[in-house]
Amino acid sequence: MLAALEGLDLEVTTGTGLSSVVAVLRGALPGPAVLLRGDMDGLPVTELSDEPARSEHDGVMHACGHDLHMAVLVGAARLLAARRSQLAGSVVLMFQPGEEGDHGARLMIEEGVLDAAGGRVVAGYALHVVSAMLPAGLVGCRPGTMLAAADQLFVTVRGRGGHGSMPHLAADPVTVAAEIVLALQVAVTRQFDALDPVVVSVGRITAGTTDNVIPATAEIAATVRTFSEEVHAVVGERLTRVAEHIAAAHGLTAEVRYVTGYPTTRNTPGEVDRVESVVSALMGPRGYLAAPTPMSGSADFSYVLAQVPGAYLGLGATPAGVDPTTAAYNHSALATFDEAALPVGAAVLAGLTLDRLAEG
Ligand SMILES: [Zn+2]
Repeated sequence: MLAALEGLDLEVTTGTGLSSVVAVLRGALPGPAVLLRGDMDGLPVTELSDEPARSEHDGVMHACGHDLHMAVLVGAARLLAARRSQLAGSVVLMFQPGEEGDHGARLMIEEGVLDAAGGRVVAGYALHVVSAMLPAGLVGCRPGTMLAAADQLFVTVRGRGGHGSMPHLAADPVTVAAEIVLALQVAVTRQFDALDPVVVSVGRITAGTTDNVIPATAEIAATVRTFSEEVHAVVGERLTRVAEHIAAAHGLTAEVRYVTGYPTTRNTPGEVDRVESVVSALMGPRGYLAAPTPMSGSADFSYVLAQVPGAYLGLGATPAGVDPTTAAYNHSALATFDEAALPVGAAVLAGLTLDRLAEG
């Protein structure tokens, strides 16, 4: 990737805490700095597609299309470097690892990426390709919440093991865990506004070894998605209370570990207007989709947008000839991304930069 930036006359630095790269492109004229971000990590998935760009390593796959993000960011760098003489300001190119759960953006912010050009960037932009839902090249965006916050809930119900024939002499964590799983869904619908929803999915529940032994513990793991920071701020405490008190009601205890993940990704309304006008100018008005609702995925670009104005966009990359409503989505072993999205992504990121820098 560093080789792809060669000859562009960029100030390149690599991260100390992680394998990040920051490249600063200086325009010929003075002005503010704009940040463009591309994430780079793959996923532990064995690729099942037979396309030429298939992963060369079994067990590792660019199932979320972050390899396209790298290509798009390099493409945007080339487009902007070619226009350096008209560029009034700087561009911070943020090549970021660790998006898939490792808070890479937060670590890069801690290492100073927002000030890499000398002062705080005035705006930040990033995009994400999707291998379904949007036809290749279509850009979707919306003001306010674009993506959910994603937290994790881990509950260990502690009881007392015993013989399955005499539960009264034991303290059964299995029945209590089952009640907690259902009560979490009751809490979601009774304690939160249906129009500012919470999504809780228990993905793992583990207990016991055989039919006639009451185990001493039972474990629950769940993902918790929220769409506003108001709800995000209270959801962990409320779900913890439900788990602890249901266990207490039956004379057991629940040990809850609530792990706060990425915050909601929130787009600045004025920057979304810019996305619409830039995309419409480049691709025509039909190239832009005003997304009616947020998506329930999450991203750590949220940390950037919590500190500076900007926008996170979705970019369609459904393969040509495939129905976007049934195509394999990101993270699937069958996901394939149409490279026709690449020039669109590069042009849109470069266009947003030029438009923002022209504002001074
Ligand atoms: Zn992703």
